[in-house]
Amino acid sequence: MKLVFDRPRSMRDKPMHFCPGCSHGIVHRLVAEAVDALGLRERTVAVAPVGCAVFMYEYMDFDVTEAPHGRSPAVATGIKRSRPDLFVFTYQGDGDIGAIGLAEIISAANRGENFSVVFVNNTVYGMTGGQMAPTTLLGQRTTTTPRGREAKTEGHPLRMAELISGLEAPYYVARVAVDSPAHIARARKAILRAFQIQVEEKGFSFVEVLGACPLNWGLSPTEAIKRVQEELIPYYPLEVFKDKSGAE
Ligand code: SF4
Repeated sequence: MKLVFDRPRSMRDKPMHFCPGCSHGIVHRLVAEAVDALGLRERTVAVAPVGCAVFMYEYMDFDVTEAPHGRSPAVATGIKRSRPDLFVFTYQGDGDIGAIGLAEIISAANRGENFSVVFVNNTVYGMTGGQMAPTTLLGQRTTTTPRGREAKTEGHPLRMAELISGLEAPYYVARVAVDSPAHIARARKAILRAFQIQVEEKGFSFVEVLGACPLNWGLSPTEAIKRVQEELIPYYPLEVFKDKSGAE
């Protein structure tokens, strides 16, 4: 029989702990596929976050280290500078990258560090109970904004890809989503592109992935996908914001 679908070599055969309908499983797979496609498994080091993706080391068949909340870009900088032969990427969530770790990510991007970032934006703090994140949409109810986020008191949702692409040094910045097969195909391409840029030693690459958190949104998996399409994508447009290869 012809094999048409299989687990990427870089993933272990292990059930994931993610809630039904969570996007992390899809993004994990896309990351593993890109590592496989570029033949990087033996020299990959991922920096996992504190958050729902904290157990990445359980699911991946390459080296994964943990960083304190928000500090992944600093840890990745240290690893990559001391061992430039390694392939290094961070895997981060909203609170990690947009709140406590905002200084780290801006500084690393501004220095043009030669590692890659996969940022999963599901507009909420997932693991700690659904508090407002910097990316929470206006009007969105969370455990810390029970009446919905208000611009006047909580500020506006942070568009990280736009923020990073406004800096001089980053080489590649894109936003994708994993709400449909077509968008997943685009996400696969963007992550592969970001990783390729690091392999070519061109500098900092950043992919924001819009995903769903059905548990903390209080929605079913199908309703959560609909919310990504109807609420997240209009505010967070899917684009390649920067790809310096066009200018070379
Ligand atoms: S809490 Fe949200 S982000 Fe975390 S595993 Fe569940 S659905 Fe995924």
